[in-house]
Amino acid sequence: MALDGKLVITCACTGAETTVAQNPALPITPEQVATAAEECRAAGAAILHLHVRDEKGNATQSVSRFKEAIDAIRKKTDIVIEITTGGAVGDTAEERLRPVKELEPEMASLDCGTVNFGDEYIVNDLPTMRAFAEEFRRRKVRATLECFDLGHVYASRYLIKEGLLEAPFHYGFVLNVPAALPYTVENLSACVRALPDGADFTVMGIGRASLPAQFGAIAAGGWIRVGFEDNVYFSKGVLAKSNAELVERAARIAHEAGLKPATPDDVRSYLKLRG
Ligand code: ZN
Repeated sequence: MALDGKLVITCACTGAETTVAQNPALPITPEQVATAAEECRAAGAAILHLHVRDEKGNATQSVSRFKEAIDAIRKKTDIVIEITTGGAVGDTAEERLRPVKELEPEMASLDCGTVNFGDEYIVNDLPTMRAFAEEFRRRKVRATLECFDLGHVYASRYLIKEGLLEAPFHYGFVLNVPAALPYTVENLSACVRALPDGADFTVMGIGRASLPAQFGAIAAGGWIRVGFEDNVYFSKGVLAKSNAELVERAARIAHEAGLKPATPDDVRSYLKLRG
């Protein structure tokens, strides 16, 4: 890989579904999220995957709320901000896409297929994905192509073949969502083998898969995502004290593997972000 000797660590500090009841250290307000972003950056994260919440703490795709959070983060740190277009279960496609249209972030997630989410499900049919991809391309927002299943990697290749996405391609394999594809070395390898040439990928192991998926990601030549969106525990039965504690461990694992955490500017130049 061109980022020789470096590992990109993303922190997903809040998510849409995680609650304060699950981990009291969950950052909710724009100020809390900005502080978490600053701490995660200091601990080695280069990208912040951003969801926002309303006054009651519920997930929202409100543009003004995203703007507040982004402004607060920008006052504290240079971390790359990747906003979600996955949103929360039940959001419409138009709601999910609005913050990309109005705020034009450097990066945003782009879900590459319909998926079970436990008893719920999130719909991403091909026409929806095309509409998202066109908007990303028009606004020069770099996509993280989120795949929850092997078939999603193949679905993403339609968008590429149709010219709706431009290289470099960055994927996010979201593994171990309940009732979707579990994290195993074999499943990760199958996803990696299905990638277009030259694509990079970040691995997100959900719940108890988080730690094994970090080792799997490095072994497979990929990058790492951690954070309370994916997992609120540090170890079995022990809650993480903060998002930064999870990033610190990811950075330690990287060091042991002979890799340095990439900086936000490394990512900007490597993924050709608008900056
Ligand atoms: Zn997310």
